[in-house]
Amino acid sequence: MVSEECYELGSRSSIIREIFSFGLKRKAEIGADRVYDFSLGNPSIPAPDSVKRAILELLEGPAEEIHAYSPAPGDAVVRKVIADSLNRRFGECFTGENIFMTCGAAASLNICFRALGNPGDEFVAFAPFFPEYRCWVEGVGASLRVVQPLLPDFQMDLEALRGILGPKTKGVIVNSPNNPSGVVYSLESIEGLAELLREKSEEYGHPIYLISDEPYREIVYDGVEVPYLTRYYEDTLVCYSYSKSLSLPGERIGYIVIPGRIHDYDRVSAAIAGAARVLGFVCAPSLFQQVVARCVEDTGDIEAYRRNRDLLMEGLRRIGYTCVPPQGAFYLFVKALEEDAGAFCERAKKYDLLLVPSDDFGCPGYVRIAYCVAEKTIVNAMPAFERLMEEYQRVAMS
Ligand code: PLP
Repeated sequence: MVSEECYELGSRSSIIREIFSFGLKRKAEIGADRVYDFSLGNPSIPAPDSVKRAILELLEGPAEEIHAYSPAPGDAVVRKVIADSLNRRFGECFTGENIFMTCGAAASLNICFRALGNPGDEFVAFAPFFPEYRCWVEGVGASLRVVQPLLPDFQMDLEALRGILGPKTKGVIVNSPNNPSGVVYSLESIEGLAELLREKSEEYGHPIYLISDEPYREIVYDGVEVPYLTRYYEDTLVCYSYSKSLSLPGERIGYIVIPGRIHDYDRVSAAIAGAARVLGFVCAPSLFQQVVARCVEDTGDIEAYRRNRDLLMEGLRRIGYTCVPPQGAFYLFVKALEEDAGAFCERAKKYDLLLVPSDDFGCPGYVRIAYCVAEKTIVNAMPAFERLMEEYQRVAMS
């Protein structure tokens, strides 16, 4: 007998992966340049040159060192370099002890849920949210509660959150810039959130932790600032990843920040170490720990994503689509042309447009368009978006 829960998860892949696989098949049939695949959040810009230089230099060193296990929470020097960088950028006072190196944001989040959550606990996410949260939270026997967004700007609805928080709430997840909406939560909403969580933590007699999932922190446009959440709420854990900022999703490298001022710091810090151990996420990839330490404040060419965003958003608006203006990440959230976003995506496939329906993001009626693609994919896809719109207009008129 196998675990029913794992069997279920493993035998049906995520909708994003399903659409991506369909795209691969379709590209083999009609040619890659005739399929407009906007399904995956795989960075389209290369890692900066500094990454390649760092790898080459590091490979010149003794192989038995660079490929060796690091200490379980990561190399002490790497952790200090990251802490110093965060202190410089966000006016914090972290030490290397506050940083736990991980295999990307997925590992960081799983470690946090496992470290904090007990069966019966609740974690809260703001819709739209990254669909994997649900299986990660449920994997520790906790449940995921969802707060719908404030429309039309998709900011957090704090009054709705107030109605959902309760004695079982262990943590609230914030993902900004957001996948899939591209929205950056405003300073005002972060301050309101911090105030509410303080009030409720006091009322229930235990801290409600804020878990900041921020793989897109550096991917922002028009000079928008993304508040650093530890500055606003003491019980914050930051889950960071270099998958997007350095275009290194396959290398599985990131970290968790456990600030010294968090309630029960010693216990939380030990539980993070214990969760990483249980899940097998100790000793993050050694070579890439050293690489990110050497490129700690570098990013890929974010400007290329900004150009894609403008091209796509302006093009779709001209045709008549309604889009949520993204201030960050590389996703555009667009209103589907019928209530059932899944049916809309099926119809889009007829034009070889591969879009992701928003149902699994907890916010039905929209589609996510990942614009981390070549610029020409967006340009060439526009006539297909236009024909899709015309089909709906014809149906509406008949
Ligand atoms: N959280 C969000 C919001 C994401 O979009 C992703 C990946 O796309 C992850 C977490 C997982 O990131 P990683 O590849 O670093 O594990």
